[in-house]
Amino acid sequence: MKTSKNQESRIENLLEKLKEARDLFLGYPVSKDFDYSRLYEFFKYPINNLGDPYEPSTYRVQTHEMEREVVDFFAEMFRANPKDYWGYVTNGGSESNLYGLYIARELFPKAMVYFSESTHYSVKKTIHLLNIPSIVIRSQENGEIDYADLENTLQFNRHKPAIILTTFGTTMKEAKDDVSKVKSILKKLAIQDHYIHCDAALSGSYGAFIEPRIPFDFQDGADSISISGHKFIGSPIPTGVIITRRSSKDRIAKGISYIGSSDTTITGSRNGHSPLFLWYALKNMGMEGLKKRYLKSLEIANYCKSELIKNGVDAWSNEGAITVVFPKVSDKIKTKWQLATEEVTHVICMPNVTKDQIDEFITDFVKERESVIETELLAI
Ligand SMILES: *Cc1c(COP(=O)(O)O)cnc(C)c1O
Repeated sequence: MKTSKNQESRIENLLEKLKEARDLFLGYPVSKDFDYSRLYEFFKYPINNLGDPYEPSTYRVQTHEMEREVVDFFAEMFRANPKDYWGYVTNGGSESNLYGLYIARELFPKAMVYFSESTHYSVKKTIHLLNIPSIVIRSQENGEIDYADLENTLQFNRHKPAIILTTFGTTMKEAKDDVSKVKSILKKLAIQDHYIHCDAALSGSYGAFIEPRIPFDFQDGADSISISGHKFIGSPIPTGVIITRRSSKDRIAKGISYIGSSDTTITGSRNGHSPLFLWYALKNMGMEGLKKRYLKSLEIANYCKSELIKNGVDAWSNEGAITVVFPKVSDKIKTKWQLATEEVTHVICMPNVTKDQIDEFITDFVKERESVIETELLAI
């Protein structure tokens, strides 16, 4: 393939724009500090991980071995039963959630699903796709599920199997639902047919390092856990992971002779590059490296919070969170720093965010506020 002059300039233009946008954002949870250049050669291959990563497939241009090691890494981190776990690398947290809820529905077709109002926007669509009846549970002020409301609602529907979708790191406030509290409510109400899917898209990759611990993993009571790979770890392509029990997955597996494997995943063709990226990153960092990465982010988040407070801004964060929450900012600041805004605004201190960037942001913030005050004074 030859690139024409016109294409050349379009490509250069796009590169410029992307670079500029990448360097100025604090509001979305994606890391930008990755370097996968060692793997560029793999773009010459039509890699496709179709089928179950644990089964041999007729199509051999695949990275199943690396994919399994990625699953192993998270299964260990999430304290899954070493003899009973399974998973695969998805196209992102949303697909991982779809998978978790799909398994839950197959196990309990008559179940009701409960999730809090702070749940990720994509989950409602997923529940609609799966056609499961659902009930929204109130959130507390900090974004965490309201356990009392959950208990009351469950009690009212206790004759039905219950699927609870908990969130470990909500989108706006990075609140974390306590899976062991949810588990004990189910126990107290004697609801035996239950399933807990933990949406850990945002915080799953560092959840194990948070102190004091916030219960979210298999030993705490989760039946499946999803994470996004392009958020805290970082990837040029959106990616995610789902970890579940092998025994649950086996209930939905169907053998397909065309691919010589089981059709256990949501999509047919599957990205074979992203498992390789994740594998590369995880092998480079290891558990220790990931932990350091988290502690650094936490330090920056605490710095951001205290600088904001110093400047009279009502900033706060949930315990162990790398997201700093504060009142809405002006559109100018919001646009410049690409800050997601609802009833509040937040800065997410992903591993690439530096003190210098926080300082620059705070300077902007203070300048903007002063100019607003000046205009207000002039108006009087
Ligand atoms: C990002 C996110 C999702 C969606 O994940 P994608 O990787 O964007 O598909 C779901 N839930 C939560 C809590 C998230 O932070």
